[in-house]
Amino acid sequence: MPWTHFMDMHSGGGAKLPPWEHIYLEAPQAEAEEIFRLATGRDPENVTCDCCGEDYSVSEAETLEEVSSFWRGENRTWATTSRPLTVEEYGRREDIIYVTAAEIDAARRGTHPLGSGPALLEEAR
Ligand SMILES: [Zn+2]
Repeated sequence: MPWTHFMDMHSGGGAKLPPWEHIYLEAPQAEAEEIFRLATGRDPENVTCDCCGEDYSVSEAETLEEVSSFWRGENRTWATTSRPLTVEEYGRREDIIYVTAAEIDAARRGTHPLGSGPALLEEAR
């Protein structure tokens, strides 16, 4: 099953679903975008600010390892560590959430932690 990465672009200046800056869903991109909408109540293709562009940069790859490779430091010019992080190490960051295929139904129903995003946004207002 492919994985889809949603990266918060801070369009308009703020994080959209704090604390998550990088959301990874185990589904093909089109399905992942639908689940994202159901779980968070947000459209990842929404443009909050014209000069900043879309709220999320979305990309798909065949594996979680592949879709996260740049962010785990496999591009050494960006890396702050001497070796790339493993998927498990990278996933411990508080701004990252993985939603596995087994958790997708919960995400669709809004009962996955990802579904608490809108509530967190309400609190921030
Ligand atoms: Zn802007």
